[in-house]
Order: sequence, then structure tokens, then C-alpha cells
Amino acid sequence: MIYDKLGKTGLKVSKLCFGSLTLGPLQANLSIEKAAELISLASDKGLNFIDTADLYGNYEHIRQGLKRSRNNWIISSKSYDYDKKGMEASLEKARREMDRDVIDIFMLHETESEHTIRGHWDAVDYLLEQKIKGTIKAVGVSTHRVEGVLGALKFDEIEVIHPIFNYKGLGIEDGDARSMEEALRKACSLGKGIFAMKPLGGGNLISTRTKAFEYLKDKHYVNSVAIGMQSEDELEYNCSMIQGEAIPDDISKSTADKTRSLHIDSWCNGCRSCVNVCGQNALIIKDGKAEVNKEKCILCGYCSASCPQFCIKVV
Ligand code: SF4
Ligand code: SF4
Repeated sequence: MIYDKLGKTGLKVSKLCFGSLTLGPLQANLSIEKAAELISLASDKGLNFIDTADLYGNYEHIRQGLKRSRNNWIISSKSYDYDKKGMEASLEKARREMDRDVIDIFMLHETESEHTIRGHWDAVDYLLEQKIKGTIKAVGVSTHRVEGVLGALKFDEIEVIHPIFNYKGLGIEDGDARSMEEALRKACSLGKGIFAMKPLGGGNLISTRTKAFEYLKDKHYVNSVAIGMQSEDELEYNCSMIQGEAIPDDISKSTADKTRSLHIDSWCNGCRSCVNVCGQNALIIKDGKAEVNKEKCILCGYCSASCPQFCIKVV
């Protein structure tokens, strides 16, 4: 496995980051046993970096995976909290449920711009206190926006950026691949650690996945790439791709048709809760029910978490 320094954080992370959203209830909903097995296998393959979130509901999957792994993991989590009280509860929950004294990186989830960071400063302040105490090592932001990256550059305290980034710019809410690239170059020159998400645009780029990997692999300013995985073959494929190794035919075939999509159950009552949380404007209400525009959907699963009827799944 290839490793890189995550900016100035002092952390050395595997170039492939285990995106754990896929494991939990918002996506594949693997059994704890199966998820833990996959995490431990990833550790054997040299991965040492895993990304999760308060929203993903998969801390138990990760806890069991960490217990089984032979090597140490660097954990990144995030939450939407905007004040000290909320952030304290989220960090404590992460520590308790993953059974870890230290969560290496804790981030503000889905930052839109410098204004979001200022508006969440009470929560950031709390995380900075925790950094001094040693319960976290770095504070970061995740973002789907170029303005989210540029906003983070205004704060020395924000050391890690987790942006959406792929060659087509899918999911970037306020720009394209080129404008994100410029923002990330700036971020790198200021010493920010960068780990990208959605290299395959939530599965939309699976038919051009070689190109999608090549695009990110060559970007020196991207220290690591988080990819969602839910099977041994996907893990094998992603490890080989990120290291520029030949892909065995059987692995290439078995992973090629693993396209995912958003499924909305028939008992949807059209409440619009999902429409309101989708930053990609991929959902509309038609004839009293939610409907997804597959070309816009990046399978982030956030709508699923917001549905009071539990009728959205990524399958
Ligand atoms: S949140 Fe659930 S019930 Fe409400 S519109 Fe969306 S899918 Fe339907
Ligand atoms: S429809 Fe749901 S899964 Fe798709 S981009 Fe919107 S919030 Fe994410």
C-alpha cells in the first residue's frame, strides 16, 4: 500500500481510505460480522485510514472491525453539530461506541463556506480544546462545495479537508472539477491534509472507473481517496487500482456490474423531508411521492437518514 502524509497533521495515511458509509444501514446494511471481517481484511492489505460519521450509524461495525484488525487504524469521523454541547455529545458517542480513547480526526460535516465554519465556531472551539487534551489529533471539514474548501483555507485551525472530487465534477454543488482542483491546489500549498470522497461519483462513473482512478491517483495534492466498499472483491479492485497494479480478470468482472441506485419504497407519503436535505437537487415530489433523478444522485444516503418512514435505501 502507498502512504502519504496528511498535510501537517503528523498522520501518515494509506492512499486508499476505507469509506465506511457503504457498510451501515444507509447503504448495504452488512451484518456486524461481515463488516468487521471486511475491515480486518482491509487492514491486512495495508489500509490504515477509515472514514465514518455520526450520521452513518456504523460505529459498532467499525468497533468490531478495529478489534479484529492486526494493525492500528486512523479514524476520521464527523457531525453536523454547531455548538459545544452537540459536538461534545457526538465526539463522546464516537469514542464510546468505537471504544477508542482517541478519534484521530473530527470534522464538521458538509461545510458550505467560511460562513458555515464561523457559524459552527462554538463546535470547532470545543474540538480544539479536545485536541489540546489529546482526544483528537486534528480538526477538519467535509464539503461538497468549492466554497467549502476555500472557506477552510481562512482558518489555520482547520487542518484536514474532505472534499468531493472526481474527474467529471459530479456532486460538486457550486463548480466543476477544474475549480475544485484549483481550490485543492491552494489548500495543499497551505499545508492542509486532503482526502477526497466520491471518486466514482457515487457509482455514476463505474463504467469509466479506470479513468476515474487514474485522474485522482496523479494528484499529488490528494493525500488519500475515500471509497465506499462492501465486498472483498471491491476491496481487492480498489487496492490494485490505487497502487497501479494489474487487476485480475475475475475481480474486474465481478466488480464491474456492481452499480448501485436509490430505491424509494411505495409507502412514501411525499413529506418532502428528503427533498429538503438533498444538496444535489436530485429529488422531486411527483404524484405525491419522492422520485430520484439518477444522473444527479451521488448516493450519499443523506436522504435515507432523513426519511421518517424509512423508505429510502441505496441498493
Ligand atoms: S422523506 Fe421519505 S416519506 Fe418523505 S418524501 Fe422522502 S421518501 Fe417520501
Ligand atoms: S437523492 Fe439522496 S442519496 Fe442521492 S444525492 Fe440526494 S441525498 Fe444523496
